[in-house]
Amino acid sequence: MAQQVALVTGGGAGLGLAIASALVAAGTTTIICGRNEEKLAAAQQSLGPLCHTRVLDVTQLAAIPAFVAEIIETFGQLDVLVNNAGINYKKPFTEVTDEEFQMVMSTNLNAVFAMSREAAKAMLQQGSGCIINISSMAAQYGIPKVIAYSASKTAIEGMTRAMAVELSPLGIRVNCIAPGFIYSDMTAAALNSDPERKAKVFGRTPMGKMGQPQDIGSAVAFLASPAASYITGVVLPVDGGNSIGF
Ligand code: NDP
Repeated sequence: MAQQVALVTGGGAGLGLAIASALVAAGTTTIICGRNEEKLAAAQQSLGPLCHTRVLDVTQLAAIPAFVAEIIETFGQLDVLVNNAGINYKKPFTEVTDEEFQMVMSTNLNAVFAMSREAAKAMLQQGSGCIINISSMAAQYGIPKVIAYSASKTAIEGMTRAMAVELSPLGIRVNCIAPGFIYSDMTAAALNSDPERKAKVFGRTPMGKMGQPQDIGSAVAFLASPAASYITGVVLPVDGGNSIGF
């Protein structure tokens, strides 16, 4: 995958950093974006010269067309978009405010749409490209206290299929990865304060352990590579069996 250019939203930390790391290891020029410049700079330091950073809050939808245009202008192409940036609010259903619901939808769904639309315009001109969305177990089964997150991730999976049927005939593959429970700041926040939830996670994961961020990086590198050239429209669980667990 040398000579390819990838953009990973939220690539400065957690799964996004592992995704960027896997793409860089495959020789891909990888741009990571996020809100926190220091976090991005630290990631760039660890990933080396194939990694480039851009500060962007993906909820600023109006900024996305110029953001993507600048990347095309600077790097000449965009071959892979990984819509990884995401947030979660854990709160009882009746206590979630409209603003909180909207914030999660804005980050996890609206931004994915806007980013994909702009990337697809460039990929259509190239006649090739690959978009990978990051979903969740919250789209495979019901999880309490994450209503907006569940709604956003379920929508991502539908959007993946709709984009795949429209864009695949034109040379753009669109796929989705549904990570199980993977070590990151997000899961630490969701599970460490809730031993009952943590026990449930392990109880229904046949492999009996949480995943590592690299597990998601490897799956993205595969789906982005020529080895996956006949794969489009799938939702690939990377979950130690959690989604099919009893
Ligand atoms: P983290 O909270 O560790 O990282 C989230 C990343 O998203 C950060 O780099 C953050 O960067 C970025 N981000 C958040 N909001 C914005 C924004 N408005 N604009 C730009 N960047 C933003 O989460 P994870 O690594 O755990 O999660 C990554 C993705 O994987 C998410 O989509 C999540 O839903 C999904 N996922 C994770 C699972 C897990 O087990 N960890 C399980 C299932 C799905 P910054 O702060 O610099 O903006």
